[in-house]
Amino acid sequence: MAIIKTEAIVLKRYDLRETSLLVTFFTLDFGKVTGELKGIRTDPKKFASQVEVFSHNEIIFYQKRNSSVHLVSQCDLKNGFMTIKQNMPSIAAASVIVELLDGIMPQEDKNEEVFRLAVSALSELTAGNAEKITTMFKIKLLSLSGFKPHLDSCVSCGSSVAAMPKFSLNLGGLLCPKCNPKDTTSRSIFKGTVATILHIERNDLKNNLGLGMNPQIKKELDLVLNSFLNFHLGRDLKSQRTINKLEIAGAMG
Ligand SMILES: [Zn+2]
Repeated sequence: MAIIKTEAIVLKRYDLRETSLLVTFFTLDFGKVTGELKGIRTDPKKFASQVEVFSHNEIIFYQKRNSSVHLVSQCDLKNGFMTIKQNMPSIAAASVIVELLDGIMPQEDKNEEVFRLAVSALSELTAGNAEKITTMFKIKLLSLSGFKPHLDSCVSCGSSVAAMPKFSLNLGGLLCPKCNPKDTTSRSIFKGTVATILHIERNDLKNNLGLGMNPQIKKELDLVLNSFLNFHLGRDLKSQRTINKLEIAGAMG
């Protein structure tokens, strides 16, 4: 059994038996890791963190060779991002972040860039900008986790797509007019939407926050991103449904 110390974001937690907690973390050094925190429910002060969802901690765990559940012996809070919990849009955005990390990232597969992206997105969320951060997090997560949509050229023949691009979910990218018949379900996409995604992919989240987006492009961007993510997850994002409800309520109020 190896003893490991690493930084970790809490993605989800379940009560386990009478005394323990089963927690899925996204860690800096091992990617997504599941750990058991023994005795935390009978003695809440046993760990120096309440192990709340979204919180950033430093953990020590014993890596078990024959089990995917490791034993967490220490959990110290680094940042609870408490101000996120003060407004619904930020909570909804943080919920999308942890649900996507849990749904998309493979178990115990290190991805330092994704970890840094998640910490940066949660830190920025403490100052608001929930909608923008959600969109940017999705784009950057897809790009860093190997699901990046192919938008530089035609996904089928590689030629440049200057006019009338179409986006194919099934093929994962743009189709030129010649290749368009290869996917009859492909849909039109604005060149501005493609350019916005490429811009966000190439710049870090914090620098992207100043980027203006016209409402038409923002709407299409969300539509394309959500269908792309749902396609890869094989289901709808639960947390996205909350955001959609908030947006409808916001539009009516
Ligand atoms: Zn083509």
